[in-house]
Amino acid sequence: MAEILIVEDELSINELIRRNLSLTGHHCTQAFDGISAAGLLENGRFDLVILDIMLPGMDGYQVFESAARTPTIFLTAKSELTDKLKGLAMGADDYLTKPFQMLELAARVEAVLRRTKKVETEFVMGDLKCDFDRHQIFLKGAAVECTPKEYELLEVLIRNRNIALSREKLLDMVWGYDFDGGTRTVDVHIQRLRQKLHLEKDIKTVYKLGYRLEVRE
Ligand code: CA
Repeated sequence: MAEILIVEDELSINELIRRNLSLTGHHCTQAFDGISAAGLLENGRFDLVILDIMLPGMDGYQVFESAARTPTIFLTAKSELTDKLKGLAMGADDYLTKPFQMLELAARVEAVLRRTKKVETEFVMGDLKCDFDRHQIFLKGAAVECTPKEYELLEVLIRNRNIALSREKLLDMVWGYDFDGGTRTVDVHIQRLRQKLHLEKDIKTVYKLGYRLEVRE
C-alpha cells in the first residue's frame, strides 16, 4: 500500500482516480488546486503524486518544484506534447495523456512505485507465499492451483491485512461493480481459500460484516 496524492481540479476525474487506486489497496489524498497540493506535500509524506498540469492557483510545474522529489506522474492534455517533454525534463517519473484508461493509470502507478521500491512484490506468512508479480500462490514452496478470482481475493485480503472488509466491498474489489452474483460468491471463495491454503484460523469471519486476514507483523 502506498500513500498517493491526487492533484486534479476536475472533480469527476479526481474521484475516478481515487476510487480506482483505492481499490488496488492504496491510500489516497485528494487536492483540487495547486496551492493546497503544495501545502499537503510540504506537510505530508507521499510515495507518489499524480499531478495535473493545468491547475488553479499554482500550475503542476510549480507544485512539482515544491514537491521535494516525491515521485510524480504528470497528467497532460492530449495535444500538448511540450507539456510531456517539459515534465520529463524536469525529472517527473512518467506522464499520462488525458483521456486515459484506468488500467493504464494503475499500471503506470505500480511501475513507478516499483521503481521507487514502495511496492510489495511478495507476501510471506508461515508456509504461505503470495507472489504479486507472477500472480501465484505457494505453499511450502509448491505452487497452488487457484482460479484468478481466488488469487485476486487473497491478494486483496493481504493488501488490506488486519482490516475488516465487508462482503460488498470484497465483491466490488474482486468481481467489480457490475457483477450481479451476490455476496454468497464471496463466502464460497473464502471457504476455498481457507481450505486450500490452511488459512482457517487466519481468515477471520467478522460478525455481520465480512472477513479479515489476521497477520501478526
Ligand atoms: Ca486541470
